[in-house]
Order: sequence, then structure tokens, then C-alpha cells
Amino acid sequence: GTADLDCDVLVLGGGPGGYSAAFRAADLGLKVMLVERYATLGGVCLNVGCIPSKALLHVASVMDEVSHMSALGVDFGKPVLDIDKLRGHKEKVISKFTTGLSGMAKMRKVGIVRGVGQFVGANHMQVEETTGAKGQEKTGKTHTIAFKRAIIAAGSQAVRLPFMPDDPRVVDSTGALELKEVPKRMLILGGGIIGLEMGTVYSTLGSRLDVVEMMDGLMQGADRDLVKIWQKMNAPRFDNIMLKTKTVGAKATPAGIEVTFAAAEEGGTAPAPQTYDLVLQAVGRTPNGKKLGAEKAGVAVTDRGFINVDIQMRTNVPHIFAIGDIVGQPMLAHKAVHEGHVAAEVIAGELQGNKELAAAAFNARVIPSVAYTDPEVAWVGLTEDQAKAQGIKVKKGLFPWTASARALANGRDEGVTKLLFDDSPEAHGHGKILGGGMVGTHAGDMIGEIALAIEMGADAVDIGKTIHPHPTLGETIGLAAEVAHGSCTDMP
Ligand code: FAD
Repeated sequence: GTADLDCDVLVLGGGPGGYSAAFRAADLGLKVMLVERYATLGGVCLNVGCIPSKALLHVASVMDEVSHMSALGVDFGKPVLDIDKLRGHKEKVISKFTTGLSGMAKMRKVGIVRGVGQFVGANHMQVEETTGAKGQEKTGKTHTIAFKRAIIAAGSQAVRLPFMPDDPRVVDSTGALELKEVPKRMLILGGGIIGLEMGTVYSTLGSRLDVVEMMDGLMQGADRDLVKIWQKMNAPRFDNIMLKTKTVGAKATPAGIEVTFAAAEEGGTAPAPQTYDLVLQAVGRTPNGKKLGAEKAGVAVTDRGFINVDIQMRTNVPHIFAIGDIVGQPMLAHKAVHEGHVAAEVIAGELQGNKELAAAAFNARVIPSVAYTDPEVAWVGLTEDQAKAQGIKVKKGLFPWTASARALANGRDEGVTKLLFDDSPEAHGHGKILGGGMVGTHAGDMIGEIALAIEMGADAVDIGKTIHPHPTLGETIGLAAEVAHGSCTDMP
């Protein structure tokens, strides 16, 4: 039918990618409409991802910290849990932030169209209006929005294993964040960041953990030296860490969810079946690309549901862009935000004849990753294994936190800071930093400095001669650079 709404830019999806794109486009003077099926903006990250998980992890980390305190001379006794209040804390954090976002949208005159959006042509989207927090209920009303440009930011959802029974004791990360109760025995399917973060929360609250992972190590993508330390510190949380193991079946019984395993490789041995009070599926996320009517707009979607884009975030259809989880790995909020800004700038530049803006591109060298576990693991750029696989010669700077006065004062000296510098002959001993990582408390808050160093092309002298405040954990970055450069004087 004919359109009842029109705009310069239509943004599909109100997650971190979508709202960042919409806000930037509005700030640049464009008429923007944002289509979101849920009652609140913020997408997965704010409603059922980054933020609620961190609200719970904060509490877990304080509890863990307090449990270390008796060794330092203060005993707080056994914690008493009020699970409703804890859930309330998490919900309050979310609602503060979502209220803030809707205020920011209003201030910028971004039109929010509530409902499920589907392309019905290259310049038209149909929206079926929804109500209810999760947008399940349809009101029966529809809108058709005419747009000059579109940005697809429809995100991703958790993968469900086909043989998992439909049972309240089987959850994905969204269900785990609801924190209905603390199970006695919990299985985490998939040893990635999301599963291990949720496992950290539940185990601190009292659950015993098992984890099953197809690959030969947990937290794939992180440097093995760092993961080793995390794993040593976290061993007491786990009954079984099942690596190179597949989950092949599950059955709901009165006693729990009975799960069967198989070796992931031929010749491996399969662990015996186990029964759990809660099973968390954290085996990855699948993009929402196949549910958008993209073909009606001519936008190509891959078999797996991703939408391919160029460095300007442009799809195969020149006036339609895509950003965030739906365009590929890494599925991280800070990547989505940056991509959203690029798409908005390119569009504003094109519509307004501003060549500089129209040339915007996503050209970040690196994107940092953080596991907000205890201790935290954070990394950015090349890992040692990746450098080796790519035949790049690197010089290592490893600084153990046992030599950090602040870490010792905190009673948490298990950490390590590791930096990798280019050591190829062409670097002539002044190789730039190629990657780095940290394991330890607050590692995630410090990884940004290493990302900046990589973006700026810093070498070991640049980082080592940058004066870091003493005594801080961040100082270990300067000291690791001095170790790599061979000038560390070891200042405890
Ligand atoms: P999303 O956040 O997925 O938003 C997409 C939005 O589009 C949703 O609101 C959805 O309702 C809407 N939508 C989809 N289709 C339609 C349609 N047809 N019509 C209308 N609306 C539609 N990342 C980090 O960087 N740091 C973290 O600490 C972190 N923790 C996480 C913890 C968990 C438990 C999970 C699950 C994820 C976490 N992530 C984290 C990942 C992060 O949440 C995602 O990378 C991020 O949300 C992606 O943003 P996006 O804008 O691409 O899409």
C-alpha cells in the first residue's frame, strides 16, 4: 500500500548499533525513524546482554573479593542472599538506562515506530505494531514507512540445540539472566565468554558447575597464557571441565535434565551422562538476517543469516546499510556502535553532498574483547598463537602481577600483563605493538590503553616511557613494554 510515514533514514533495530546510528544520523540533521519490536531501546546488550550480566557480575565479584578477605584479616562471614533484591538491582540498572535512551531519542526527534519490521520493497518497510515488553502481542495495526536510506541493525539471537527438551530447566543467556533460582548443579554448554560469565555469577551464588566445549580449550580467541591463569583460579568452581566433547542428547526427568556426551574427535573418550538442575545453552548466536524480508529489497543474506557489507557498511544494495551482530564477528556492542556511526555518517554525507562525511569508513585496526569473569581476561590485536600461525616474529613482554605493588596490596597478584611487538627484521628492533592481553582484576578497564597503543602504532619505548601512575594495575602495561624492550628495572 502507500506509505503513511516517511523519513530520510530508517533504522531497523534499536540495539547499540541501531540507536547509535539513529542518534548520529539525527545529530547530522537527518529525519530518522527507528523500528523496534520491543518496548525499550537498547537491544540485546542493554535488556538481556552486556548490562544485566554486568550488574550481576559486579555483585558476584564483590562476594568473591569478600571471600578472599579473611586471609587479609577481616572475616565477613557467610553471605546471605536475597535473590529478589538482587534481581531488582539488575532491573533497576536496565530501566535507568532504557529510560535515558528513550529521552535521548525524543530530544533528537528520532521517531520510534513500535513493531516488527519487514522490507516490502527497496524503499519501503512494513511494520506490524506490537505491544507488551517483548513485543509478542500484535495490535493488528500496520504502518508503511517510505525511506531514502535504510540501516539494518536487527542483531542476533542465541542458538538452540535441536535435541534440547522444552523445559524451564533448559535456558539460554536470557533465561539465565532472569535468575529464577540458584540450581545445585549447572551445566554450561559452550565454554565462551557468555557461558563463563553466567557460570561465574551462578557459582558465586552457590551452584556447582560443569562445562562442555567442543574445542580443546575454554575462552577461544584469548591468549592461552592468560586463560591458563583464569582456569587455575576458577578450578574450584567446576566439577567437570569437558573439553573436545560434544553434547549429543538431553532428556527431561523428574530428577533433572539428563545430558549425554560424545567425544568431539575420533578415538576420544566420552564422559558419562550427567543430570543437572539447570542447563545453560551458550553455544553461539545466530544473526536475524533471514526474518526481515530482505529479499524484497534485494539485499543478499548468507545461508547462515548474515548480511555482508563493505567497509562503509553498505550491503549489495547501495542505499541499504547493515551494522552490528548481523554483519558478522565479533558480536560485540562496541563494534556495533562504531559501525552505526560509520553508516550514519556515510548516509548524511551522501544526502547532504558532504564529501568528507560520505568517505567515512570502518577502519579500526583492532576490536578489544573482555571476559568479565573473576579474574577478568581482556585481549586485543594478535595473540601469540595467531602471530605464530601467520608467521609473524614477535617479541614478548610479560609482566607478572606478583611484581606489582598494587596487585600485592590488593591481595590479588595472580594476574599477568602480556604485550607482543613486531620483531621482524624490517622493524629493526623498534617493532610496533601488535597485540596484548591481561588477566587479573579490572583487566577489562585497562585494555583500552593497549588498543590505543595499537591504533597509534606505538612501540615498546613509547609505552614504556609513558609515565603510568604508581602504584596502579595499569602500570603493568608500561612495565610489560619495558620487559619487551629489555629495560625493565623491576619496580615493585
Ligand atoms: P541487538 O542488540 O541484537 O539489537 C537488535 C534489535 O533489533 C533488538 O532490540 C531486536 O528486538 C530488534 N529487531 C530485530 N529484528 C527486528 C524486526 N524485524 N523488527 C523490529 N525490531 C527488530 N557485548 C559486549 O560488547 N560486551 C559485553 O559485555 C556483552 N555481554 C553480553 C552478554 C550476553 C548475555 C549476551 C547475549 C550478549 C553480550 N554481548 C556483549 C553482545 C552484545 O549484546 C551484542 O553484540 C550487541 O547487542 C549487538 O548489537 P546490535 O545493535 O547489532 O543488535
